[in-house]
Amino acid sequence: MQQQWDIILRDLPEQGCAWDVSLPRSVMADVHVGTVQAIEALCGDVHWRGEIARKGECYHLTGHWQAAIRRQCCRCLRQFDWQVAGDVVRDFRLAQRDGAPDDEDVLPPPGELALVDLVREEIWLAWRGDVPCDEACKGLCPSCGCDLNTGSCHCREDNDHHPFAALRKLKL
Ligand SMILES: [Zn+2]
Ligand SMILES: [Zn+2]
Repeated sequence: MQQQWDIILRDLPEQGCAWDVSLPRSVMADVHVGTVQAIEALCGDVHWRGEIARKGECYHLTGHWQAAIRRQCCRCLRQFDWQVAGDVVRDFRLAQRDGAPDDEDVLPPPGELALVDLVREEIWLAWRGDVPCDEACKGLCPSCGCDLNTGSCHCREDNDHHPFAALRKLKL
């Protein structure tokens, strides 16, 4: 199932190859496919376009991916579709006795490049721990838990009427 997303570097045609595909959610989220941790919370397919061309002994890959992942807002705790995208620039080389520079991925011949795993890796690299549903999300009131996006609470007002509210204005 995975093979159709792989590239064999040694079999790459002279002019290289280019693609513009949707990596199915069913493959990207399948823990039994590939070796890199699956992206289980994907909302849909991952759009993935790119190209790879041989330059001497080096295989130069450039690409762009785009995905939506079901996440929980770090401010209001609502579930939302996190839109994330990234550019990929990678150099690969077939393993040889002499080795290769450190900034290139070295693959044993014939150079099987598992693109599902490569894109998963890129998605995990782009992962951010805390994501808001919207940069303007107001979050929850820390006192009463009210969602400040959908309504307002009276906590702040109440605080101002608190007998010690004036103390807040003091600079200690
Ligand atoms: Zn939010
Ligand atoms: Zn409140």
